[in-house]
Amino acid sequence: MKKVLLFLIDSMMTDVLLNCIQKGKTPALQFFHRNGQLIPDCVTVFPTMTASIDCSLITGEYPDRHKVPGLVWYDPSEQKIVNYINGAEPVLTIGLAQCARNVVFDMNDRHLSSEVQTVHEELEEKGFTSGSINVIAHRGRKRYNVHPPFLLDAAAGFSLEGTTSGPTIFSMGTLVKPAIFREVPWSMSQSPAGSLGINDVYAIDVLIEVVRSGMQPDFTLIYLPDNDHKVHKSPRLAEDHLAQVDKQLVRFLDTFDTWEQALERNVFILVSDHGQTVVGSTEEHNVNLDQLLEGYATHQLQSTNIQGDELVICNNERMAYLYPLRDDLLFQVIETLSGEGRIDLIAWKEGEWAKVMNRGELLSFRRGGTLRDQYGTAWTVEGEWKVLDLYQDESGVIGFDSYPDALSRLYGALFSQDVPVIIITAAPGYEFLSKHMPTHLGGGSHGSLHKQDSLIPLLIAGTNRPFVQPARLVDIKSYVIQEVTTQAALV
Ligand SMILES: [Zn+2]
Repeated sequence: MKKVLLFLIDSMMTDVLLNCIQKGKTPALQFFHRNGQLIPDCVTVFPTMTASIDCSLITGEYPDRHKVPGLVWYDPSEQKIVNYINGAEPVLTIGLAQCARNVVFDMNDRHLSSEVQTVHEELEEKGFTSGSINVIAHRGRKRYNVHPPFLLDAAAGFSLEGTTSGPTIFSMGTLVKPAIFREVPWSMSQSPAGSLGINDVYAIDVLIEVVRSGMQPDFTLIYLPDNDHKVHKSPRLAEDHLAQVDKQLVRFLDTFDTWEQALERNVFILVSDHGQTVVGSTEEHNVNLDQLLEGYATHQLQSTNIQGDELVICNNERMAYLYPLRDDLLFQVIETLSGEGRIDLIAWKEGEWAKVMNRGELLSFRRGGTLRDQYGTAWTVEGEWKVLDLYQDESGVIGFDSYPDALSRLYGALFSQDVPVIIITAAPGYEFLSKHMPTHLGGGSHGSLHKQDSLIPLLIAGTNRPFVQPARLVDIKSYVIQEVTTQAALV
């Protein structure tokens, strides 16, 4: 039977991919394109940040069900800001130990809801084998010892030894190595400078070794992060950055007798997690949240005490979660924000209703009702439809334009936690700035609900089974399970 491989290429964008293919810059992606189907406008979840998206990819659910709200969020049960590592400065401020613990242990074992099943759990329950290479969301049915390198322990001040869960073939940089016959030969990609193996070269090294060992699982999810870092720095060179990713795909394809043989043995699915928006180069393109909200006592990143604090700011680049810590503050904060023209959307919840404001106009919506959106989800919608650029087609179905799948995605983020929260997104060309968080003036950024951050390419080769359209990232899990099941039935 054919094996299924799902490559997650961080920040791959459709226009960049098509330009690369047209110019012959990415031979591997061109090969998959020629032998497969490309869906140019698949919609990812919101916030458009890798952490929440990875959890949606492996569970097939929006954040209101899988419960991982974003890359940076506030955990009221611990009275702490959770940060799955965004930039070096917050890591230094919060402490490496806590950040590493958040990403290596907490996300999979504490934050990711036990009410949802991951693709790995579901496949292995059905008797198939599953694999995960370098994906931060990796919950599975087996437990693994984490082996932090001495340097990481030394920097953290104490040992980060522990266990985490994963599928049968599980690799997490050099922290958890896959149980195969032969180890991946050492290279610089495994050094601290190579992010301890969390990079494209090492991920492909592991994949090659897994296939060579004869232990390739029925399904493997492989994360390729390098493109994201590069597009953040130089978005105008995005084609060159994607060409570098392609070199790694070529390296994998070249391990077969022919590229056609790779396709005879595997179904290839390649998808991005989000797009990126170019941020203007002048200071005013940073919307300074500390300044804008200086009238409130804000909870600081390194503090473990919220006594006397009024507001927690959790900055996710072009999106932010703001948590008012007193009931009377919600509308005061909304009022403070509503005068800022560089903010695009301001959203909050009232009971079961989601409320969203765009330049003073208001839209309310809740689950259930007589209206259907283009994905078949039922809604009740009141107020100004133009707030989320919604329209109704001839058959009365709700369609989306500037904000793809806006209702489910915004709802998913607002209801990912059971606490009062305000969501803000930055207008195109802008990004939020707050103490300790990385910014990208003149570079690329993401996080918002806007289509520029939200539409991703989905490329499938090696199978003719069509993908459900209009396509969403949350539908990939069921496609994978169906494909693995179909392949097994063909034998
Ligand atoms: Zn990024």
